[in-house]
Amino acid sequence: MINREELKEIAMLQADGSYFVSLYLNVSPNTKGDYVIHLKNMIKNILEETDTKILKKIKGDIEKLEAFVTSNKREFKKGLAIITSSEKSFWKEYYLAVPVKNAIIADKTPYIQPLLDIIDNYKQYAVLLVDKESARLFLVHLGEIEEYGEVHTQDVPGKHKGGGWFSLSGHRFERHIDYHVSLHIKDVVKKLESFLAAERIERIITGGSDDAIAKVREMLPKAVSEKIVGSFHSEMFANVNDIFEKVRTVISGVESMEEKAIVSDLLTAAGKGQNAVIGIEDVLNALQEGRIMKLIFIKDFKDAGYECRNCRHLSKQKVSACPYCKGGMKEVNCLIDLAAQRAVEQGLLTEVIADNKELLDAGGIGAFLRF
Ligand SMILES: [Zn+2]
Repeated sequence: MINREELKEIAMLQADGSYFVSLYLNVSPNTKGDYVIHLKNMIKNILEETDTKILKKIKGDIEKLEAFVTSNKREFKKGLAIITSSEKSFWKEYYLAVPVKNAIIADKTPYIQPLLDIIDNYKQYAVLLVDKESARLFLVHLGEIEEYGEVHTQDVPGKHKGGGWFSLSGHRFERHIDYHVSLHIKDVVKKLESFLAAERIERIITGGSDDAIAKVREMLPKAVSEKIVGSFHSEMFANVNDIFEKVRTVISGVESMEEKAIVSDLLTAAGKGQNAVIGIEDVLNALQEGRIMKLIFIKDFKDAGYECRNCRHLSKQKVSACPYCKGGMKEVNCLIDLAAQRAVEQGLLTEVIADNKELLDAGGIGAFLRF
């Protein structure tokens, strides 16, 4: 899983005369076969365009990349990113659940901008599991969960030790426990806040004991407690897969509400003709005129159409020649994927809607426009 701290470290890896090769490749299952061709074309270009002196330094890296992709034994997700420098014995690979713009770049520094964009555009969730004496923190991002850390506050006395054990009266013993629980929750809040800041997380999901969650909420600054989007019940020592299962249910509830709101905004705006379009034809026009701000489409939505062999112009309607360059058109059965890929290439925001009947009925795809 990508993380901002690690990217920062990679970004800091400086030259001292050595070179890095950064590869970004769309490896979606529906572009199977194609991505090997794309890679080979990109390699051909970079070999032709690069200065001989630099080429000497990066040739080994490029061969390694090609061998890695073509002989791949691991199942790819949607996007693949690899940053390598043989000179520095550096190799880092990322399997991304989202598409990336194809690129291969040789430079004195690693090219990490696309990874940063992914971190900025896809929602991350902090998951806090907490009770009176312990806490666990997780990061959920791009369909994966990672345990981030634990908090065990020392010396939280348990009630099972019985009143009087500390020679305290029952009442004072209660206060003693409260005091330790507060210390613990203070620790938890501190750790949660630094976690949120380090990873720039905007959403929190809480789980564990209701008392502890309520205390955490109480002690968090308002701006932070407002980031809590949902909660779930779980044992403190549940295994990470069981926790993820529960978290996923919360997330899909939250995101489906948000998706409903986005689709409703989109349909309203398009209906009033206010900087929004609906349906593949209008979307393609806006996309190719560079007017789109955010592309919105139903996940795995399929549509067929035509693509210019020459300039890659996309069309829903069958036309005998490309209206832009008079090139020949070929039939394509993944028009939506191609449109989404163009959007990523243009650096546009994209929003994939998991499931929404209104949008499906309206043509499955739409966009908010810049003008
Ligand atoms: Zn064309």
